[in-house]
Amino acid sequence: VRVKGNYKHELGELASTLNFMAHEIVRSNQIKDDFISSISHELRTPLTSIKGWSETLDSGGYDPEETRIGMGIIAKETERLIGLVEEMLDFSKLQQNQMKLVKGTVNIREVVQETMLNVWAKAEQKQVHLKLETDETRAYNVYGDGNRLKQVFLNIVDNAIKFSHENSWIFLTVKEENDQIVAVVQDTGIGISEEHLIKVRDRFFQVNHQNGGTGLGLAITQELVELHEGTITMQSELGSGTTVTVSLPMLKQEIAPVEHDMTSG
Ligand code: ADP
Repeated sequence: VRVKGNYKHELGELASTLNFMAHEIVRSNQIKDDFISSISHELRTPLTSIKGWSETLDSGGYDPEETRIGMGIIAKETERLIGLVEEMLDFSKLQQNQMKLVKGTVNIREVVQETMLNVWAKAEQKQVHLKLETDETRAYNVYGDGNRLKQVFLNIVDNAIKFSHENSWIFLTVKEENDQIVAVVQDTGIGISEEHLIKVRDRFFQVNHQNGGTGLGLAITQELVELHEGTITMQSELGSGTTVTVSLPMLKQEIAPVEHDMTSG
């Protein structure tokens, strides 16, 4: 009877595991379907614009100024398409553990400063002001991939600008805390509702398409930070703004160089 009882219990567990798996498969398929539909939408918009302008210009009769505007739009939308495709490739590489990092010593303060320079014009257009608080005299080194870390901060700061009000401030901080290099990007923009923030923390979260976009940016950002053994947190309040904090293990100066084994050979 005991054996039978256990058997029943295990069968029950197996059934609920299978049930759970079936549920997860349905859920992840649903997420993928939504994801493909939002990506397609994002790809379609620039393509439609490129098609429209090239047909218009092809029909002739446009003065040089109109032609210049049309060509400018085609170039900008093509840029956007390339960006989207690059994001999709990065995301798929991360999903398949194929992302290769080229690691070296990276000063996070310099990465944040370069990021600020890169977005300066965009911020100015919106009259969004960026202010960095840090100690200029010291290095905030981590062991990581400089280009990928730049991508992380570009995404975070780009979002901060995108969701800021005109004529507002974004405060950036780079500091050291408990053997971690901590970088904070705090905006005073539209913020995110609690319900949406939970989705934002998920992979593929942006599926509910609140602000358009693919939602790949933050998913990639999060994965890249995690590949550097770091953490990323997002705090937000609807109407008051968002704070994103990235912590990465500090590279200690006193790490000894790798010693070669001289006893053999
Ligand atoms: P996308 O690449 O589609 O812009 P991201 O992954 O970069 O997506 O961001 C996902 C979503 O998270 C955004 O569409 C937006 O709803 C929300 N979000 C991200 N950063 C901020 C921010 N600083 N303030 C408000 N909302 C934000």
